[in-house]
Amino acid sequence: MIFLDRIQKVKDSTSKPDSVLYWMQGAFRTHYNYSLEFAIRMAKEYKLPLTVLIIVDFSYPEANARTMKFFLDGIKDVVDNLKERRIPVHVRRGSFVEVFKSYYEKPSLIVTDKPYMPKTINLHRAVYRNLDAQIYEVDSNLVVPANLSSEKKEAGAYTIRPKILKFLNKFSRDFQMETYNGARIETILEVDLEKQSELKEIMKGTSPPPAPYKGGEIEASKVLKEFLETKFHYYSKLRGDPSVDVESNLSPYLHYGHISPVMILKEASKVDTSADNFDSLLEQLVIRRELAHNFTLFSGNLEDLQTILPGWAFKTLLEHQKDQREYLYTVCELEEGKTHDKYWNAAQTELVGRGKIHNYMRMYWGKKIIEWTGSIADAYRTMISLNNKYALDGRDPNSYAGIAWCFGLHDRPFMERNIFGKVRYMSAKGLERKFEMQKYIERIMKQYAL
Ligand SMILES: Cc1cc2nc3c(=O)[nH]c(=O)nc-3n(C[C@H](O)[C@H](O)[C@H](O)COP(=O)(O)OP(=O)(O)OC[C@H]3O[C@@H](n4cnc5c(N)ncnc54)[C@H](O)[C@@H]3O)c2cc1C
Repeated sequence: MIFLDRIQKVKDSTSKPDSVLYWMQGAFRTHYNYSLEFAIRMAKEYKLPLTVLIIVDFSYPEANARTMKFFLDGIKDVVDNLKERRIPVHVRRGSFVEVFKSYYEKPSLIVTDKPYMPKTINLHRAVYRNLDAQIYEVDSNLVVPANLSSEKKEAGAYTIRPKILKFLNKFSRDFQMETYNGARIETILEVDLEKQSELKEIMKGTSPPPAPYKGGEIEASKVLKEFLETKFHYYSKLRGDPSVDVESNLSPYLHYGHISPVMILKEASKVDTSADNFDSLLEQLVIRRELAHNFTLFSGNLEDLQTILPGWAFKTLLEHQKDQREYLYTVCELEEGKTHDKYWNAAQTELVGRGKIHNYMRMYWGKKIIEWTGSIADAYRTMISLNNKYALDGRDPNSYAGIAWCFGLHDRPFMERNIFGKVRYMSAKGLERKFEMQKYIERIMKQYAL
């Protein structure tokens, strides 16, 4: 099997399994889904019935109507595609532990997607504890499986890059999708995927309005196609320029596993464009993204800056914590985009309206929150909460690595200065020197200002 290295047996059992259950938890798609393919192969090999289980937990940490809608769009595609492949699917409602306790406690063989975030790892462990089953985790959402590229927390892109590139060819190979001829197609839907208006009711008061993106693997393929046809030729040159829109916008789809990075790479490799564009995508999609997964997988606790940051960064920020700040803003002022800085306000407007900030402005957004907040712990908390509330790609390893990068993670020391110490600083003047910033403001305000 070509993707054997993606699979880890995390629990054994002496009980004989009577079925195969694929608990789809991180890779909500049916194409390039290694967990699903592995579950089908196990079902066929042991001649056992297969069921796919999806659990919808409306009280999942930091879930809101915006992110839930995007997530449910994806489930709808999965259900439709599984029906077509004659694979039974159960969409259950409740917490992970409750659902397993109520319906799936008897011995079976369980396949699930490997989690990378400490919170999710703990939720998985709580489920596994109560089960007498063989359990396999499959690394479905990365190009090179996280445990294979590295066994420790990496210092930066320069240390993980050679380790990933060594395995790149092996893990970006194509594979044959398995057929499955189930005797019965059973679909259980405890959540109404069509009538998503119930979301508003369920998550009253806590939610931003829906963002202008539809979730799901069908839409993810469309977004990829549009990116490759219209933007990819300019990607290496213009990706970092906020005055134009040359980003792929694939991060929300990657976050929910609506699309596989292997599939993105394969499709990108077919485009006749300069090698710089492909290399630039490879650097973001594979090296940076997998570095972020390495960071969360080996961090254990993402709440505490002292354990997250390299020693030099934490020390220098602490030494400058009491430095005079020219501006101090409350979380409310920041959330409403009411600062003295028009570029920052536009970035916050983009986050609230679009559910995502342009990649360059995302760095600026984070750096300024550090500058305008009284302590680094408060700045970190504010960034996490605003990002996870509004960003469709929030709560991701990239969210935590990106935010921690603003505090010096995966970066190097610079010349010492006020507030930031030796951590890299960004300024409005720097933006103006590099880009036509007025165009960014116009582009964003025209579309997203209320
Ligand atoms: C303060 C801050 C917060 C961030 N929060 C998030 C977040 O919540 N979710 C998120 O996915 N990314 C986050 N990032 C990383 C990065 O900004 C986004 O991944 C990128 O903007 C997503 O847009 P795109 O899909 O159009 O990216 P593209 O530029 O088209 O890149 C393609 C893919 O490469 C990956 N990628 C790109 N840049 C990075 C990076 N710096 N680190 C890791 N992977 C990268 C993403 O998966 C992205 O979808 C954050 C960065 C910072 C500085």
